[in-house]
Amino acid sequence: MTSKLETVKSNIQAAAENSGRKKQDITLVAVSKTKPEEEIIPILDQGHRIFGENKVQEASMKWPELRTHYHDVELHLIGPLQSNKVRQAIQTFDVIETIDRPKLARAIARISQEEKISCQCYIQINVGQEEQKAGIDPHEADSFISLCRDELELSILGLMCIPPVGQEPKPYFSILKEIADRNGLEKLSMGMSSDYEDAIQSGATSVRVGTAIFGARSYP
Ligand SMILES: *Cc1c(COP(=O)(O)O)cnc(C)c1O
Repeated sequence: MTSKLETVKSNIQAAAENSGRKKQDITLVAVSKTKPEEEIIPILDQGHRIFGENKVQEASMKWPELRTHYHDVELHLIGPLQSNKVRQAIQTFDVIETIDRPKLARAIARISQEEKISCQCYIQINVGQEEQKAGIDPHEADSFISLCRDELELSILGLMCIPPVGQEPKPYFSILKEIADRNGLEKLSMGMSSDYEDAIQSGATSVRVGTAIFGARSYP
């Protein structure tokens, strides 16, 4: 039987080839938030190593033990980060995808220096300019990128977004790509279970897929 993971991977390959890209150019981040270890282990045993979690606390409960058995795991933080959890986040995650304000950027710069851990980061852009949503306003993106890269000397890999729910996502993916292109950033983290193929067509280099791999979550 084909696993859900295999299905997602072959969909990624097809979407990549349809837009003249290679499957190796697209990273699959398997979003394991809310899922217990016994549901994560089968995915690890199929050889997958890149995972996303949205809460520092939950990830630091689940992953240190899993990492002792699977050494080459790469863990991405894809949820909001409070400044007082930065130290724990840097110790738990390899990549922080959700830098969304100057105070947080400054805390990450300072604490990663103190801890002597070089932290790979993405800046989250509020592509739909939604009141309730985290992320930098698209109009402030260029100056914020410059603050992070030039002044704070953070290692910024690229940009991340979550488009508005219930709308055609492609125009929002394009906004993210435009900002990245004009700032010389290569990585675009965009696309979830419902729209990762569209995201790949729009230039995603990384898709964050939960439900399509693990099944529905019983709580958000
Ligand atoms: C939960 C979550 C995902 C995965 O969502 P699915 O619809 O389950 O694929 C992706 N990105 C972020 C930021 C999330 O919080």
